[in-house]
Amino acid sequence: MAWRAAGAPEVELPTREGFCARCGAGGVLIAAAAVVSRSFTGYDGWSAPSQTGICPPCAWGYRHPPLRATAHLVTRAPQLQALTPTEVGEHLELPLSPDRALIVPLHPGRKHLAPTAVWGRVTIEDAHLSWAAADVDRLAALRRVRRLGFGSRMLTAPAPPWAVLSRLPAETYPELLADWAALTPWRERRPWLDLALHVTVADTVTPPPAPRPRSPLSNLRKAHR
Ligand SMILES: [Zn+2]
Repeated sequence: MAWRAAGAPEVELPTREGFCARCGAGGVLIAAAAVVSRSFTGYDGWSAPSQTGICPPCAWGYRHPPLRATAHLVTRAPQLQALTPTEVGEHLELPLSPDRALIVPLHPGRKHLAPTAVWGRVTIEDAHLSWAAADVDRLAALRRVRRLGFGSRMLTAPAPPWAVLSRLPAETYPELLADWAALTPWRERRPWLDLALHVTVADTVTPPPAPRPRSPLSNLRKAHR
């Protein structure tokens, strides 16, 4: 679908006919060695890895550089749309419907994700994540916590770090602690949390600096005056 949405581009001239080693479709093929490198190891999911040819859509899925560099939405329309992390976050504000596939490289360029994408899932490195109503609620909780000044690394901790907590008004605590607890299932299933952190980076607000505590050094200086 993504290949068709992109205008069914030719990758290079097919050199043989047969069945695609990856998807099993019959037709003209491109030599597999011309598409994936010798160090490629992602053969799980290939229908017949011993075949030596790959069909043009599959070849494009491996060779089209933007697919490895940025996130994409694929629909059955067919439609292929490049997305910024923030735009991915907007799509995740609803459960992901079965006629859509999101491809989100958390480590751009490292792996081929597009050829393994699944309808109704968010494909990240080594995982295809469902995105249900509970995930939508957790994403909203994560955004609220970010807006109080908690950054990505802090959000992986089991409790809100004191450095930020101590600067917040006490009336924010009940909702904050409830939101923090709501993220516990994600802390135990990190791929979901990693994805959510990736698409909400822009939400963290830097809190105003705390009054500077008097350091032992300044006391020392005073003593010498
Ligand atoms: Zn194929």
